[in-house]
Amino acid sequence: MDLLVVGSGLFGLTIAERCAAELGLRVTVLERRSHIGGNAYSEADPETGIEVHRYGSHLFHTSNDRVWTYVNRFTEFSDYQHRVYTVHGGKIYSMPINLGTICSFFGRVLAPDEARALIREQAAETADPHTLEGKAVSMIGRPLYEAFIRHYTAKQWQTDPRDLPAEIIGRLPVRYTFDGRYFSDTYEGLPKDGYGAWLRNMADHPNIEVRLDTDFFEHRKEVPPGVPIVYTGPLDRYFDYAEGELGWRTLDFQTEVRATGDFQGTSVVNYADPDVPFTRIHEFRHLHPERDHYPADKTVIMREFSRFAERSDEPYYPINSRNDRKILSRYRELARSEPDVFFGGRLGTYKYLDMHMAIGSALSLFDNHLLPRFATRLRS
Ligand code: FAD
Ligand code: UDP
Repeated sequence: MDLLVVGSGLFGLTIAERCAAELGLRVTVLERRSHIGGNAYSEADPETGIEVHRYGSHLFHTSNDRVWTYVNRFTEFSDYQHRVYTVHGGKIYSMPINLGTICSFFGRVLAPDEARALIREQAAETADPHTLEGKAVSMIGRPLYEAFIRHYTAKQWQTDPRDLPAEIIGRLPVRYTFDGRYFSDTYEGLPKDGYGAWLRNMADHPNIEVRLDTDFFEHRKEVPPGVPIVYTGPLDRYFDYAEGELGWRTLDFQTEVRATGDFQGTSVVNYADPDVPFTRIHEFRHLHPERDHYPADKTVIMREFSRFAERSDEPYYPINSRNDRKILSRYRELARSEPDVFFGGRLGTYKYLDMHMAIGSALSLFDNHLLPRFATRLRS
């Protein structure tokens, strides 16, 4: 073994693939779960054949040419474009907030400039732009914030929105056109044969060995000395929580087969109000309208519930509160004292990374650290 990768998510798989294919290294990937691919994993539902994203709908989008070229080596993509709707006060609206949402919410026909002026007026209050609440109010004004963001965010994060970082809401565009697309990136689509097939293709190299159901911490002592480690598990767990626990959100997913060919008419519907306990419902058949083998009388839906992660839960979203940021800086210091361990991915860097960002940062780690390190060794 030349390199050990902990975690087979898109970060770990990108590192394993590059090191095996470009440098001829023998790479072992340890994966705690019973499947590869981390949170992007999908599989066919046994009853209906509908592809289910086990950890919630995963939409691939990027404006990074290098990442787009790279991922197209392992899968073709459909031309799927994501659109989301949100239920508030018994009505349904387009999300992210666009001219259609604004006109429907205020019950008026507004030209773009009129809508801009209205929101500017409603956003005129002093709020800290570094917090989620302050940033959101400055973007969309108080009434839209109260309707579509406040309670959804409370369900998703259970954290005072004045204590959450502004970047979380900066992910959502606000548009003064009727463009209801969720993402604004140059490239968007879904893997034609599914995420499972894409992820397996990445690991399909004779120099890559993936060991499923294997927790790094139970095998740590067996790692031969001098073998570098790329670690994509939770940062605080690596150091045995020496500096305290970082805050994570976990999700509970309730999956159900319903006896109808169409439950909600689209792939994701958000629920903005506090009286509904879940944040959203996914209906997976709508992610692949091009597939003609899906049954006409059955559909798979998944309700998503969010809560604080305990140590035994899967950590999904870094909360990144002020206190978390203090703890994080201490872990970053500790990480610097481990020259043979590279921390990466969503869990290993405690960052809210989308798939394309995880792949992009793995490609950078390969270029900037692994390639120089192994190139010297391979030459000698
Ligand atoms: P992960 O996918 O989390 O993989 C880490 C792997 O490490 C896991 O498989 C874990 O089991 C394993 N591991 C951890 N500890 C150990 C250990 N001790 N030993 C062995 N293995 C271990 N991105 C998008 O671009 N579009 C989306 O629509 C989107 N939706 C998302 C929805 C949800 C609910 C979540 C949680 C994420 C979403 N993402 C989305 C983000 C996307 O899942 C991540 O960017 C991507 O999975 C990051 O990959 P990763 O390799 O960093 O982490
Ligand atoms: N958000 C919201 N209402 C919505 C959708 C999103 O308040 O209908 C907020 C919420 O705080 C969420 C953030 O915007 O965490 C980012 O949304 P995104 O859809 O990117 O979250 P993800 O899909 O990653 O959970």
